[in-house]
Amino acid sequence: MLALQKVRPAVGLEFRAVDAPLEAPPGEAIVRVHSAGICGTDLHIADWTPGYESMAGAMPVTLGHEFSGTIAKVGAGLSDTLVGRRVTARPSTTCGTCAACLAGDEDNCSNRKGVGIGRNGAFAQFVCVPYSNCHALPDRLDMGIAALTEPMTVCAEAVKTAEVQAGQRILVIGPGFIGQGIAVLARAKGAKVVVIGRNDGPRLGALRAIGFEHLVDTAEIPLEEALAGYPPFDAIIEAAGVPALVSATLPYLKKRGIFTVVGIHSKPAEIDLVRLVRLHQQIRGSYRAAAHDWDGVIAFLAENQETISKLVSQRLPLAEAMTGFTAAHDRTASKVVLTIGGDA
Ligand SMILES: [Zn+2]
Ligand SMILES: [Zn+2]
Repeated sequence: MLALQKVRPAVGLEFRAVDAPLEAPPGEAIVRVHSAGICGTDLHIADWTPGYESMAGAMPVTLGHEFSGTIAKVGAGLSDTLVGRRVTARPSTTCGTCAACLAGDEDNCSNRKGVGIGRNGAFAQFVCVPYSNCHALPDRLDMGIAALTEPMTVCAEAVKTAEVQAGQRILVIGPGFIGQGIAVLARAKGAKVVVIGRNDGPRLGALRAIGFEHLVDTAEIPLEEALAGYPPFDAIIEAAGVPALVSATLPYLKKRGIFTVVGIHSKPAEIDLVRLVRLHQQIRGSYRAAAHDWDGVIAFLAENQETISKLVSQRLPLAEAMTGFTAAHDRTASKVVLTIGGDA
C-alpha cells in the first residue's frame, strides 16, 4: 500500500510502498482508513521544526493521527464481530507495562506512542491501533467529518479548561481548525465569540460562512484598534502559537479572567506578571482531552456536521497529499482531509 512517511530526521516527507499489516497484534485492530486530516503537527513534522526529535527512533513511520475508518481485522482477544465497525481512534497509545500504567494512571504512561508520530499512522490504506483506543461512530456521522474527532477533542478540552459559560465574551486567537473548533464549541455553549487572525482571509471566511460576525484580520486593522470596541473578555483562548500575541492580548482580559494557551510556541512569551497578579487572572495550558470526553465530541459532530463540513476546505486523495500540505502551510486552506478509502 502507499504510505506517506517521515523517513529521516530532516525536512520532508516521502511516499513509499509498504506492506499492509496482515495480522493485528493481540488487543489491536487493523482499520481500513476512510479519511484522515492533515494537522499543524503534520506540518511541523514535515518541516522538521524542533520538538519532534524523539520520532527518529520510529522512522520510517507513516504519518496521520486524525482519522476514521472501518475495522478490517482484529487480533487475539477481540471478537470477530467487531469487523466492519466504523470507528475513529485516540492517537495516543499507552504501554500497559510501566509503573504509571500498572497503577491505573495511564495518562502518565512513560512510554506513550502517538499513532502517526511514534508508530505508523493513517496516511495509508490501513492503520493498526489498540482496540481500546477506538471509539464507535454513529451511522449518521459522515466519515469525512468523523476524521476531525481528534482535533475537536483538543478544542473541547480548551473550552472546558477556559470554563466557557453562556453569556460570556470569548476571544479566540488563531483561526486554524483548532481556533475554529473552539469558536464553534464556545458559541454552542452560548458565549459571544470574537476571532482574530493575521493574513487569514480563507480561514476567517470559513468562520463567516458558518455565521460568525466578529472576525478580525490584524493585517487589515491593528489589534488595538480592532479590540478597542469590545469590553474586556471573560476568557481568551490562544490557538495560534505566536508568543507576541499572548502579551498583546492579555490587556483585553477582564479581572479574574482565564487565559488558556493551546498553541505550540517555539519561543517563550513575555508577560506582564504584575498586571496579572493585580487583576487576579489565570493562565492555563490545555492539551489532550481525556478518553471519556471523546464520545461527547463524536455526538456533537454528528449533530453539527453541516456546520463542521464548511470548515473542511479541501478533500484530496492520498496521492495528492502534498498539495494539501502546501495549502495548509500557506493558510489558503481551512482544513484539508485526505480521502483514502472508498466506500467504507
Ligand atoms: Zn492533529
Ligand atoms: Zn505505560
